Amino acid sequence: MIFSSSLLENAVNEFAKLPGIGKKTALRLVLHLLKQQETEVDHFSATVSKMRNEIKFCLRCHNISDKEMCNICSNTLRNQQTICVVENIRDVIAIESTQQFNGLYHVLGGIISPLDGIGPEQLTIDDLVFRIKNEGIAEVIFALNPNIQGDTTIYYIGRKLKEVPVKITTIARGIAFGGEL
Ligand SMILES: [Zn+2]
Repeated sequence: MIFSSSLLENAVNEFAKLPGIGKKTALRLVLHLLKQQETEVDHFSATVSKMRNEIKFCLRCHNISDKEMCNICSNTLRNQQTICVVENIRDVIAIESTQQFNGLYHVLGGIISPLDGIGPEQLTIDDLVFRIKNEGIAEVIFALNPNIQGDTTIYYIGRKLKEVPVKITTIARGIAFGGEL
């Protein structure tokens, strides 16, 4: 692609860095923005940059949040004795969208995968075990991918909870709650 403007070219290159966006699509999006009012485009870029700069991770469950404690954790109407353990934030969004679960979450930030160099210490497993021991948790539901990494992660956490009087349930992610993002 040959551009007559380096400003245009730079913008296209930035959009093309996004997953699933090729150069052609990037050009289409940039040309679309060029047709918008300047205030519209300012609002667009300010929203993206505000999201990146100000977003937080919940101190309790590691879900994405506007505040130190996310609105799921701070909702007293939710069942505070059940934790659903998920791999990432997309899982929380998928399960919340089904409106079938009224407990709390714990976002591991990944699953144990030695081949990818991901060990338990890189995940929020210690925080999870601490929560289960100290927050009066009665049930832990694992909603991880039904594969070897998911199984390994459940096994590892299960061993850490051997002495803890808590009910452990495993569901295949996306099956019991339905839908996947
Ligand atoms: Zn939270």
